[in-house]
Amino acid sequence: MLPRAYELLFSTFAFILGANIGSFLNVCIYRMPRELSVNKPKRSFCPSCQYQIPWYHNLPLITWLLLRGRCANCGAKFSVRYFGVELLTGLLFLAVWRSVTIVNWPLALPYWIFASLLVVATFIDFDFFIIPDEITWGGTIAGCFLSYFIPQMMEVSAPYLAGMASILPGAILAFGCIWMGNKIGGPIGNMRSPGLFGLWSLAAVALALISSHLLGAPHATSGLLRSFGSAAFGYLLLWGVVEAGKKAFGKKKMQLSAPAPFTWTHTVSEYGDDADLVIGDISWMKEENPSKPDANSERGRLIQWSEIFSRDSDQLILHCKSLKIEADSFEDVVVVSHCDYLLIDGKRYPTDLDHLKTFSGVVTNLVIPREAMGFGDVKFIAAIGAFLGWKSVLFTLCSASCIGAVIGVFTILIGKREWSSKIPFGPYLALGALIWFFFGPDLVAWYFQSIGFESAM
Ligand SMILES: [Zn+2]
Repeated sequence: MLPRAYELLFSTFAFILGANIGSFLNVCIYRMPRELSVNKPKRSFCPSCQYQIPWYHNLPLITWLLLRGRCANCGAKFSVRYFGVELLTGLLFLAVWRSVTIVNWPLALPYWIFASLLVVATFIDFDFFIIPDEITWGGTIAGCFLSYFIPQMMEVSAPYLAGMASILPGAILAFGCIWMGNKIGGPIGNMRSPGLFGLWSLAAVALALISSHLLGAPHATSGLLRSFGSAAFGYLLLWGVVEAGKKAFGKKKMQLSAPAPFTWTHTVSEYGDDADLVIGDISWMKEENPSKPDANSERGRLIQWSEIFSRDSDQLILHCKSLKIEADSFEDVVVVSHCDYLLIDGKRYPTDLDHLKTFSGVVTNLVIPREAMGFGDVKFIAAIGAFLGWKSVLFTLCSASCIGAVIGVFTILIGKREWSSKIPFGPYLALGALIWFFFGPDLVAWYFQSIGFESAM
């Protein structure tokens, strides 16, 4: 046991480190979905006046309080969320530290990284309904990699940092191969194609595994294999759920009480090309706030084009009483729209949607493709499995679904949401993973005991 003073010192350090990392996570949350680089420019800038924030105005938590959440240069208000993310990350780092305890100190690093991934995924998913690949695939790779050096993450028992002399040569070899593949792959041939590069990298990792095994560090090999297996397990499980959901609920027929006018308009914004499909009277859009996607109004409904199509096979079907497109007009036609082109009564319309400004008409009914869950969530559960193991996958999926259902019904009851509106699932997965990390094994043991089974966990 450590004297209390040391314990306090380490805990304080964990919190301050977390708050500082949280400050960086704010940058990731803002920049990643906007496809801005997270390390260029190095300094944070005010989104309103582009003023580069000097270090003495970039102290986590403190700055926000001192400047009362305003930009020192232009006075623009910063959301209280910046403060919230720093505080949350600080508390998570502290909680991770308290939970791994000093005896298992090497576990703090991977779980701090993991907590950071969860924070970023949660807030980006709230804002944009996506989780970037850097977080999901990047997290999966990081989880496997860390489980190689710290196989205790995967419940492999071995002394911490044991056999580094056996582990390092393989790891360096694998890294070297991957780095070289990336560096000189282009000139040699088609190495830059993701498939081939993936195979090459996989071969390099296999080389590392074999070498560390032969050199006498089988625990490293099992750590990586278990981590990879857990990631694959999570991925396949949720992928199956998503595919089944697509089969069962993949299409939604919108019943219209009477034929309604519709207008499709090409839009361009900072995120690229998109389009608005408005069913009903279009004039309300100018009066109300049109920036809110999926906006509903007494007089009409706005559907954002990019929200409809999530896979190549998706199609939107409009039974039109009349249709006006460029100089052509049609009566009683079926328009099958793919993401970027139209079929009118089975014939491809010569102008693709990219080059169309608008088309409109009167629709009698329409069928919209639907996705129960995004693929970002599927990749995200793989990352969770890679860090926490296969049991966490089952626990996280179950608890996330339960929490999601309860909160979903609750928000409908208090009138904040409609049945049909979208909810991000990533935050619930993140919450489920945290519950597993802090309480999961105890909860499962308690559950099995209370139903009369001795726990096998
Ligand atoms: Zn400013």
